[in-house]
Amino acid sequence: MRCDIEIYFPYQKSILRYSYIASSAYSTEGIAGKGFPTRPPACSDRVFLNLYNLLYHNRQLFCFAFVLIFISACSTAPVIDPSVMIKSKPLITFVFDDGNETDYTVAKDIFSARGEVASTAVVTGWINTKDYLSVSQLTELQQTGWEIMGHTVSHPNLRDLSESQLEAELSQSKAALEGWGIHVRNMVYPYNKSNETVRRIAAKYYRAGRAGQKMMNSPGSDPYDLKSYSCELSFWHKMDDIKGLIDRAYSEKKWLILYQHLIDAKIRISGKRGVFVPGEMLSFIPSGAAGKYIKDSLWSIQFVPLSGTPQPGDTVTGLSSGASAKLWEVYYNEREALTEMIEYVHKKYPDMQIVTIDKGLDLLEIR
Ligand SMILES: [Zn+2]
Repeated sequence: MRCDIEIYFPYQKSILRYSYIASSAYSTEGIAGKGFPTRPPACSDRVFLNLYNLLYHNRQLFCFAFVLIFISACSTAPVIDPSVMIKSKPLITFVFDDGNETDYTVAKDIFSARGEVASTAVVTGWINTKDYLSVSQLTELQQTGWEIMGHTVSHPNLRDLSESQLEAELSQSKAALEGWGIHVRNMVYPYNKSNETVRRIAAKYYRAGRAGQKMMNSPGSDPYDLKSYSCELSFWHKMDDIKGLIDRAYSEKKWLILYQHLIDAKIRISGKRGVFVPGEMLSFIPSGAAGKYIKDSLWSIQFVPLSGTPQPGDTVTGLSSGASAKLWEVYYNEREALTEMIEYVHKKYPDMQIVTIDKGLDLLEIR
């Protein structure tokens, strides 16, 4: 015999429904004469009947248990502190890692012209060496409102060091900067790498430490594990990606930290004549742009974009060597890119502050 049965739990919500086929093996007593259920494939008739009786006769108990589990799950869910949400605000910080001379020769003017400042994280062992910042440039950046951050003495992977070596790298770099009259409160971990020991020792000398990890920061962030994104452009990392991050930081009221290293440009060339000399000045005619040669290949030149905007059709000439080439395409120009990022924030989000790391910590009360 075949018939249907439903199990009604409180609130008359039908949650189980089975079809039954009568069997001579078991009585129907346990289910009030409503027939035998068809058992699931991996379940014997006796086990299924016992389970059915358990559910049917203890439905209120099961409902009570379900409510208890639900309440327990709610009580362990993360609770957002309303005061933390109030402190939240969209911020953006630009950090230049390693203390390249381009922080002074390129970035300083870009930021100053737009009433903004940035942070530079310097390796003290590289200060006053070729292509890196000098002490006088550092001092001028600080006077302009830039933040000078520690980035160790010799740029090691801090995870590989003993505690005594860590102490030396983190304390001596800070002492060297202070000896030059530079105020330093925060640091950047070389290669964005840290661990618990590194952060513990960093906390002895610095207010905060920045890593990478492609995330944003908020009032509850760990000051010794600040997150950041690279803003160096490449074939895989376009300006639209950076703008998307800025959009998200604004809409989610997060603190976006962007970092990069040397500020350079790369162009595709043709018709190269002569040999360019490393470090020589480049002129771009007719655009009137100027640059400082870094290196080249048969098809490209990499240089520091010092002023103006090199354009396709320009003839690029080395002022010392007399070498020249035709500019066919600008692969990237980080001078232009930085300018575009700042102006994007100014035009689209005028109330989004561009701050140093130290100012961001103050505004979000991260401690
Ligand atoms: Zn570095």
